[in-house]
Amino acid sequence: MKTLRKHSRQREELLKVLRGTKSHPTAGWVFARLKNKFPRLSLGTVYRNLNLLRDEGKVQELAFGSTFDRFDGNPLPHYHFICEKCGRVFDINLPVENTLNKKAEKAAGFKVDRHRVEFFGRCRNCLIKGGGEN
Ligand SMILES: [Zn+2]
Ligand SMILES: [Zn+2]
Repeated sequence: MKTLRKHSRQREELLKVLRGTKSHPTAGWVFARLKNKFPRLSLGTVYRNLNLLRDEGKVQELAFGSTFDRFDGNPLPHYHFICEKCGRVFDINLPVENTLNKKAEKAAGFKVDRHRVEFFGRCRNCLIKGGGEN
């Protein structure tokens, strides 16, 4: 009972950390933030809790291949921009095109539940710093 309560408290804190940032952090980043509060916490536990929260629909996982898994405290569908220079992930303030699902359904004859869009390029910061070079 005691450990159960402790675990749900960890999960609550984890959710708070994720909801408190717009940086779409990795599990490692979340782990570093929680380590002070829960000294016995392991990275494996953080992963397990993140997956649990994802399965419950409270957060979303942005899988960009195994080296680049990030988590998003906003579970609602939205688009992302990934800076190929600094690797930061940003939310793009664009309405989600739900008609795209229907178009894909028509084109493929499949049942489409959702879609993901990621834009790639250079963020404002990198544009300022980088000048004209690529
Ligand atoms: Zn950048
Ligand atoms: Zn996001």
